[in-house]
Amino acid sequence: MKTLCRIRIHLDNLLHNLDFLRASGKPLMPVIKADAYGHGLLAVAAALSSQGVDHFAVGAAAEGVELRRAGIRGTVVALLGLSPLDAGNPTAPPTLPTFDEDARAALTHDITPLIHDWSALDRMAELTRDHAAKSVPIALKCDTGMARLGFLPEDMPLVLDRLARAPQLRPDLLVSHLAAADEPEQDAFTHEQTRAFREAARCLRRTFPDIRLSLGNSACLLAFPEQAGDLARPGFALYGGNPFHGTRRDVLGLGLAPVMEAFAPILEVHPLRAGQSLGYGRAFVAPRDMLAAVAGIGYADGFRRMPGAQMSVNGMRAPVIGRVAMQMTCLDVTGIPSVRPGDMAHVLGGKARPIRIEEVAAWWGTIPYEVTCLLGRIGR
Ligand SMILES: *Cc1c(COP(=O)(O)O)cnc(C)c1O
Repeated sequence: MKTLCRIRIHLDNLLHNLDFLRASGKPLMPVIKADAYGHGLLAVAAALSSQGVDHFAVGAAAEGVELRRAGIRGTVVALLGLSPLDAGNPTAPPTLPTFDEDARAALTHDITPLIHDWSALDRMAELTRDHAAKSVPIALKCDTGMARLGFLPEDMPLVLDRLARAPQLRPDLLVSHLAAADEPEQDAFTHEQTRAFREAARCLRRTFPDIRLSLGNSACLLAFPEQAGDLARPGFALYGGNPFHGTRRDVLGLGLAPVMEAFAPILEVHPLRAGQSLGYGRAFVAPRDMLAAVAGIGYADGFRRMPGAQMSVNGMRAPVIGRVAMQMTCLDVTGIPSVRPGDMAHVLGGKARPIRIEEVAAWWGTIPYEVTCLLGRIGR
């Protein structure tokens, strides 16, 4: 590791959140895409697996392969689907898998491919025509209002026609994703998506009565568990984020515990006289005599170059002053006279008034999901 900042992952809190979400009574397919939202794919999967979790949703198929190589068992669904690339695509770098490579990796490692368009359905049918197992599990993605990936509910009769000609393909899961379940004022849209999803499910179940349904994300699972389907897909809440932070449903997520802590040592502490400037562009000028500290983290570490953030130092809040630099950020520690080089400045977490993901998101003008994804790239 070539930086001075670190993150710490509290797997005990992850398991607390798992229990909290399991109290809904719904079976879960935790979402561990994007390196488990920055928390570490394998550590998170192993911890969940030790508690009996046997369904996982990853991003690219390659993430699923990594799970298998680490010995994780159960159903693994790759939410990005299979690579759309044809062999011999002249514009694609050789490190990007082709459809066939991705599909073969999925077959070899028993990863359930998410099929979301006609081309993938036809190519998967073609590729598995002589498949020895005679039963290749797939997940079907239905677009009920996100307008991103998926077949439309009214496409389902045609999907059934195609599947009738590819009896080796066995749709195990019907998946759809909610666009605004974390915004109570958009409940009507969420309920409409649920209705469309059920309509698609009814059609498929005439031919595939055992197909399982997966709709709900964290917000849906907390607010409308009965709409989540047979397998809920929480991501954010598992990592301790409250999808309803700042809304009238805030209370639903208050039992969740944050999983990621991020911190950096203080490199130097020095006085700053009234009128003295600090940092690039002299953007900060001390309004009075102050004490400044320099923390060893900056925008190269994913700490965004935005004014207004705070860190937690020795249990007290220290506002960021001046411009965030590449690997250093300055703090006003005037009220924290005990502070010394080597003390930890917490970007997330901390002793007395731990810094919450949602606070950082507000300072950065983004959503909390981005906070753990960015800071998750820091070393352990
Ligand atoms: C990321 C993702 C989820 C998880 O959503 P959260 O809001 O983190 O619970 C579920 N389903 C799909 C398809 C996703 O991409």
